[in-house]
Amino acid sequence: MLRDSFGRVATDLRVSLTDKCNLRCTYCMPPEGLDWLPNAQLLTADEIVRLVTIGVERLGITEVRYTGGEPLLRRELPDIVARTVVLAPRPQVSLTTNGIGLARLAGVLVEAGLDRVNVSLDTLDRDTFKRLAHRDRFDDVIAGLSAAHEVGLRPVKVNTVLMRDINDHEAVPLLRYCLEQGYELRFIEQMPLDAQHGWSREGMVTADEILAMLSASFDLTADDLEDRGSAPAERFLVDGGPARVGVIGSVTRPFCGACDRVRLTADGQIRNCLFATEESDLKTPLRAGASDEELAARWIAAVSRKRAGHGIDDPSFLQPSRPMSAIGG
Ligand code: SAM
Ligand code: SF4
Repeated sequence: MLRDSFGRVATDLRVSLTDKCNLRCTYCMPPEGLDWLPNAQLLTADEIVRLVTIGVERLGITEVRYTGGEPLLRRELPDIVARTVVLAPRPQVSLTTNGIGLARLAGVLVEAGLDRVNVSLDTLDRDTFKRLAHRDRFDDVIAGLSAAHEVGLRPVKVNTVLMRDINDHEAVPLLRYCLEQGYELRFIEQMPLDAQHGWSREGMVTADEILAMLSASFDLTADDLEDRGSAPAERFLVDGGPARVGVIGSVTRPFCGACDRVRLTADGQIRNCLFATEESDLKTPLRAGASDEELAARWIAAVSRKRAGHGIDDPSFLQPSRPMSAIGG
């Protein structure tokens, strides 16, 4: 098992398939993009499947989420999903995507065995989308969302990051829209993970603020707060339910004590936390012919060093040098 020194066990693996993206969300990367990882450094589909197999079959991983960068840019994605769902014991397999291309791929991904999808959508206004993501792709995202719903992925979850004076007036309309469409909305507090280091505490719209805005229009009652387990979202029934909304207070309501995640970057590094400043290289030994036992041992050691919390409130906090898009959100 992947147990750390505080007794937490990692069972949820986030795999970044690429650091590249076709959007430039302000809270994630600069408009000009980043220096992408050279292709030779990216794990191949076979290498990804080998490491995921070790995670699932030897190390107790029960949930695999493919992310990025933008995972739909990786054309082997359906193949990778199909080769993940046949592992034993079968893990839950999900995807976090900006939705561009999902209209075309949703059916193929379901056929491959994908269980769930999270689509990021921060605004219902085309101009705000362009301002926030620096690309005019709003319609593609909306089409991707409805395709996911049509092919039967349930629940379709929507991830929203609110930014002050940009889209923070849209909390209520976004929830209304998701309720109408049958999507489950989750707001995520903006974290200091953007490549350009533009995060500020004042710019962050907090979980408290989000809940206050929503409560002005909806009756929110705590849902499974007692049984939140390792789930980062605090979920609330909207107007008595069954519809729900989630709020992920990564910064102001940290859930590090119950964290069950571990991450594999697109270039084969294990990160035991989004905010880790150290990584453990699996790619070099893998390419040098290491056995599954050796790779598993390195992975176990990497998780054992996980720190108690992200420490954003600590004066000595250092933003990791890798931005979110290269870690795998
Ligand atoms: N490109 C895909 C997408 O946007 O869904 C997957 C990768 S993206 C890094 C994963 C999630 O991280 C998205 O929901 C995005 O909104 C969120 N995210 C990115 N940067 C963030 C930040 N600085 N703070 C909070 N969430 C962030
Ligand atoms: Fe791309 Fe996702 Fe980052 Fe937006 S949040 S720039 S869609 S990786």
